[in-house]
This record gives sequence, structure tokens and C-alpha cells, in this order.
Amino acid sequence: MSFELVIAADWSAAATPTGRRPRKDAIWVCADRAGSRELRYFPTRAAALDWIGALLAEGQRTLLGFDFAMGFPPGFAAALTGEARALAVWDWLAVHVTDAADNANNRFELAQVINRRFPGTGPFWGRPAALDLPDLPATDRARAAHGMAERRQVEARARNAKPVWQLAYAGAVGSQTLLGMAALSRLRRAHPDLAVWPQETGFARPEARIVLAEIYPSLFDDNAQDHAIKDARQVMAASAALRAAPGEWWTAPAALPDAARIASEEGWILGVGPDGPLPVGRAPDDCFALPPGIDWTPVDAALATLREGTAPVTGVEVVPVERAAGRILAADAVARRANPPAANAAVDGWGFSHATLGPGPIPVAPGRAAAGQPHVDPVPPGRALRILTGAALPPGVDTVALQEDAVEAAGAVTLRAIPKPGANTRRAGEDLASGDVLLRQGAVLRPSDLALAIAGGLAALELRALLRVGVLSTGDEIVAPGGEGIADVNRPMLLAMLAGWGLAPVDLGRVRDDPAALAARLDAADVDALLTSGGASAGAEDHLSRLMRARGTVQHWRIAVKPGRPLMLGRWNGVPLFGLPGNPVAAFTCAALFARPALLRLAGADWSDPPRRRVPAGFAKRKKAGRREYLRARIRDGRAEIFASEGSGRVSGLSWAEGFVELPDAALEIAEGDAVDYIAFADLGIG
Ligand code: AMP
Ligand code: MG
Repeated sequence: MSFELVIAADWSAAATPTGRRPRKDAIWVCADRAGSRELRYFPTRAAALDWIGALLAEGQRTLLGFDFAMGFPPGFAAALTGEARALAVWDWLAVHVTDAADNANNRFELAQVINRRFPGTGPFWGRPAALDLPDLPATDRARAAHGMAERRQVEARARNAKPVWQLAYAGAVGSQTLLGMAALSRLRRAHPDLAVWPQETGFARPEARIVLAEIYPSLFDDNAQDHAIKDARQVMAASAALRAAPGEWWTAPAALPDAARIASEEGWILGVGPDGPLPVGRAPDDCFALPPGIDWTPVDAALATLREGTAPVTGVEVVPVERAAGRILAADAVARRANPPAANAAVDGWGFSHATLGPGPIPVAPGRAAAGQPHVDPVPPGRALRILTGAALPPGVDTVALQEDAVEAAGAVTLRAIPKPGANTRRAGEDLASGDVLLRQGAVLRPSDLALAIAGGLAALELRALLRVGVLSTGDEIVAPGGEGIADVNRPMLLAMLAGWGLAPVDLGRVRDDPAALAARLDAADVDALLTSGGASAGAEDHLSRLMRARGTVQHWRIAVKPGRPLMLGRWNGVPLFGLPGNPVAAFTCAALFARPALLRLAGADWSDPPRRRVPAGFAKRKKAGRREYLRARIRDGRAEIFASEGSGRVSGLSWAEGFVELPDAALEIAEGDAVDYIAFADLGIG
């Protein structure tokens, strides 16, 4: 009976996108998987439905809750559709509602159309004063004799629930209901394995793979949730409560008189019983527990998750080639012309048609051909023309003799030896043909790549926009560089590493060990990815890991790597987050090995594993099984030396080192001279 995935959505009837920045009175969705929650804000209904569609496609047993009414008071469905079923109203609305990708919709006009089917004035009311809709009254008091009850049975039992007839003004739910039901009709048709509780199931425990139900987030205590925005707190609390939903939540309303009709025609709010809200279940305490298999993830498994789970997120822009160094190609670069564009001389000398040469000195033709100064007249057969390197071969020239091999006297040249046909010339297109794929999408452009693109006739390239990566330090003890205390080593170091990788670093500053402040700073960051350092372990002041488990999505947490076991990989508001350890050596190592390839992939580059070189060890060491180890190292006299201390707080070893020695997960005893793997910092893009 349990659900692997619980989704709680707070819907909105906004008529325009609500903006990039998360805000209140907009769409908030919380997806709660065993062990982690992901909270997302959406500026449009279409974007939210896309995400929900993707979650449903994961194939898990899912409970999906929306916070608008999924039915109307008695008599409405039959009056509108001829059938006394809520789902008939959904389908009617799916036909009549227009709701565009940018939120533009016809809800007020449609409410007026519906009102005209009822006697008197109403039942729908509430609209912007400026809208000229005579059959949609602006106020409650203007309604009369429409014949509909004000509330559904369930609304009389849920605290402060607003009637569905109200379309505008504070707390109104009517507009969301009209737009929401239309969307749900489509969702239902797209998922044959979806059942609507209780409209389709009655008041019984539903067994379908996807269960859709009406929820009322105001029923749930929101104080336990760390978020400044009430809608966000409520969907988080709602998803937790739904996960723990006791069995009676599904079945208790069956005791109502007329239960079958209510279920099918009016619908019901999950968590409300015949006498009002039902007790909230005790959530299995899974939100702070690790999902199975998360403990001590092997390095290769964590890297595989990143490799498979990350795709480019940045936009595309066209940039002049000369400003493209270090940037990432968003599309294959294709040659627009051949290189060289025309056949030309590879040396300074004498040009002629090989087949037409007679014996003895060759008479000289008038003029000369030089680079940029073409000789347009044909060179007559049996004659030689003075030609310089880079000059286009004039008509009648197919071969060039080296100047050093020729003697000119009395209007003729004598050659020491006749070169082979075609000698000392470059053919048109011998380097590149028009249409050749010069560089592949995902390539990080080097100076030599720019040369190639330009030779292929390209003046501008389609590049990925720069990936903005926010860097945040955490910890009460951390002070600005130069201050009294533990200096913030990590942030400037990480910002510089990001810049070296061709990304756009964004300094998010330092935050104290305070969960609300940390959450607020992360929420406010306008970035494509986040790097944090500190607070990633399981201690009392490790708020980053606590917050991520409560509000983010955690993919991996404890990774079997030394240094850096508490490395958190996950998402915050959907943005990939790398929760690096606080110790500078560990932060550096984890950033270089885990964050770098994933960030470059997000930025549009291909995934790349750094090359390893086998080198003899200049040290002896014994290693236990369990963790992969990265030792600060450098190569001297062809051998890998390692830094004397392995302490992950030793910044001195970082500056000393030029690479890592990588020791495998298994136990190992290394003697001097044994071959070990070495990864150069240069191959990790660290200069
Ligand atoms: P934490 O993971 O927050 O417990 O931090 C582990 C260790 O790293 C502690 O000794 C911190 O003082 C230190 N640390 C955390 N952040 C930084 C930073 N930005 N710069 C230097 N040291 C840090
Ligand atoms: Mg700390």
C-alpha cells in the first residue's frame, strides 16, 4: 500500500509567468521519495506539469496530490454535462479551457459562459473590475437564485476552505479549480495506470500505480519546515503527511450518508473524515535516514551517477571565433569553405605546366604571382612565371620549381633538376573540404581549434552560455582572509578553480551555521549549480547535510573516498549541488574529481575522465580496504613523491603538490618502485 513517491502540488491560476525567482502565490511542488525531498518552484503551469510528467514516467508507485477542488457541489456536474460525475466536468473543462504555455488563459470568460447555463446570477463570481463580463458578477452579493449549494460536503468539514465559486481575491480557489481540472483530465488520459481517489475508487484504499487525490495543504502544520515562503512549507509538510497517511484517510468518509454519490460527484479531500480533519500519521522517520545503498558509495558509482544524471543546462549563444577560446561548442562546427580555398605555391620559385616543358632553358613569362596579388592571365605552354609562396597558381601552372634550383639569365630559367609534376604546390581543399565537420559539439575550444574553425571559413561559433556556479562557505568559525580565526580558504580557492575550468564563478559569500540563513542564501542564489563547503557531515552543526536531506534531493552522501568522505551530491530547488567537505584539502580534491566533470557536463562539454599515468612510487605505503585514496603528489626524477602528511587540513601539501597519486579501493601494500597511478593537476584543468 505504500507509495515510493509522493508529490504534493500547490497550484496557481496566474495569468502570466510568475518569474524566475521563487515567490509566494505561485506553483510549488514537493516530491518526496523515501529519504529525500525535492522542492521546486515553477513560473508556469506548463513547466510544473512537465516536471510532474517526468516524475510519473519514473514508474514508481506514486501518490499525486493537488490543492484545488476536484469536484463541485451537488447538481453542478449534471447541469453542465448531463452526467452527475466530477470526471465529466473535468473532461468538459479540458475541451473548453484554453491555458497557454505562458499561463494566458480564459477562465473568467469561461466562467461567464457557465453562469449563463444557470438560472439567476452566478454561481461563479469574482473578476478583475476592468473585465467587461456582465454575466460574471464581480462580488458575492451580486449573485442571486443560481440554485447551487455554496459548499461541497467536504468543504464544510475543512477549516477555512473557500467555496469553489469564488474566482478572484485573497484565498480564492475557483480559478485554480477550473484550470486544474482541465489539466487533470489530460493527465488522466495520458496515464491508463492512474486512478482518481475517490471519484473513481470510492472511499477505498486505491491500488493503482498512480493515485491522484485532492489535498488541502492548510491542514498540515508548517512550522517544522525551513522555508520563508508559506506555500513551500505547506507542500513540504503535505508531502510528509501524505507519505504517512494512515489507512483511515482513504476509508473513513465511507461512513457518510450518501458516500458513493459524494465520492463520484463532489470528490473529497484526503485527510478529512466525516467529522473533520483526521489525525496525521507518524511519518516513518525516513527523512533523516539514508536511503538504502547511499552509505559509503564507491567512487566509481558516484561518478557513474553524475555521468548519467547530468546533461547540459545552459543556453546557446553565437560568439565571434576570436572570443571563443576555452568555451564549449553547442553544435558541430562545419567548414563553410575549403582550405586552402585555391591551389597555391608552397615555395618561392618558378611556376609552369609540367607537361608542356621542352628541353633546355625555359623562357620566362612576363609578370609574377604573389600571395594576395594573383596573376590572372594564363601562363603560355612551355613558359615559366615567377611565383612566391602562397600565391594562387595562375592558369597554366601546375608545378613549381624551387628558386634555389633555378638560375635566371637572358629571359630564361635553367633548372638544375626538373621537379615531379605538381611539386611544391598545395591543392585546393587538401587541408579541409567545405562541409567537413571540423569540431564536435561538446568540445572545449583550444587555440588550435580556433585556428581550424577560422581556416574552415567560420567567423562565429554556436557556444554554450557560461555555466554560473555559486560558491558558498559555511561555518561559524570561518572569517574573511586576513581576519582572526579560521580563514576562508575554500571559497577563493574554489572560485579560482571554476574560472580555470571556463565556468562563471558566482561568489555567494559565507553563511553561519544557521539553517534558516543557509536555506535563504541557497534559495536566493541565481545560479545553474552550487558548490558549498563545510557542514556536510552528520554532526549537530552540519546544517547543509541536514537541510539537503529535509528539503533537497540527495543522490549520494557518504562517498568512499579519502580525503572527503562526507561529500554530498544532490539538488537544491532542482539546481545541482555539490556539498564539499570543509577541510580545504578534501574540498579541493572532491571539487577536482567529482564537481569538475559534472559541472563541465552541465556546461555542455563531453564527460571526461582525467588521464592516469603509471609511474614508479617514490614512497612506501600500506593502505586498508574500503576507500579510494588520493595523495598529494608530484613527479621528481621520474618517480611519484607524496606529501609527508596526509592530514586533510594541511593546505601546505596542496600548494606543494602538482597532482594526485590515486590508490584503488582495495587494500594495498606499496613498496618503493611499484607502479602507481598519477593524475596531473594540469589534466584536471588546475594550473
Ligand atoms: P565542517 O565540515 O564544517 O565540519 O568543517 C571541517 C573542517 O574544515 C573544520 O575544521 C572547519 O573549520 C574547516 N573549514 C570549513 N570551511 C572552511 C573554509 N571555507 N576554509 C577553511 N577551512 C574550513
Ligand atoms: Mg562547519
